[in-house]
Amino acid sequence: MTNRFPSIYDDETVYSWFCRYLVNSGIWREHEIAKELFVNSTNVISKLFIGNINKDTENNIEKVISIENLLKHHTMFYVYTGYCSNDYANEFLYNLKTDCYKTELNIRRPRSENRQLKYCPMCIIEDRKKYGEAYWHNIHQIRMLPICPIHKCKLHNSEIRYIGYGRVREKLSPLEMMNLNFDVEYNTNEMLDKIVEYAIDRYYKQDIKDIGIDYLSIRKENWGLRSNIISFYKRYWY
Ligand SMILES: [Zn+2]
Repeated sequence: MTNRFPSIYDDETVYSWFCRYLVNSGIWREHEIAKELFVNSTNVISKLFIGNINKDTENNIEKVISIENLLKHHTMFYVYTGYCSNDYANEFLYNLKTDCYKTELNIRRPRSENRQLKYCPMCIIEDRKKYGEAYWHNIHQIRMLPICPIHKCKLHNSEIRYIGYGRVREKLSPLEMMNLNFDVEYNTNEMLDKIVEYAIDRYYKQDIKDIGIDYLSIRKENWGLRSNIISFYKRYWY
């Protein structure tokens, strides 16, 4: 660990934060990245979670933000637990802390969705004004969410895929180094109901089961599940 981590920006993904740290530290090669941040020399950066970080990284992160807050507010943790009970959320948090890669690999991959990291052209302009640079937002990566909840314009897909880590050798990709599309579109045809239906079918039934939670037992216990999911998505929709 050569340098201190910078401050993490509001709603910034861990991936984005790690990219900024590594680029500023002059660390580009994969084996150097793994040595710097992770337990195993074959580990690569996780786009949506945190990866199996080593003890030095953990200590250095804790100087800026607690691991728990980092996982809760800067990874997809809240999407996978937003409509689960506290017990399920805690179990997922424990699994992420214990073996993030295994937990992430166990989450079923979306079949018919876009699999790229997304960004909002308006957020980029505002972030550059506020922080001097743009970054990957966590909230934009919510699956099936096609619109920036802040600006209500369409999110653009980047060329960075968020799946396939461990197979694809990729360069570090801070948002500022991407080819960016600044077109702003407000054509919001996607209906919330459709998204919720999709979420229940594709996301809840499969993914939550895949992280080791029994779907049927939740179904019996949580009659309010559907309304929980709707309110979860509405939070980011309106
Ligand atoms: Zn935005």
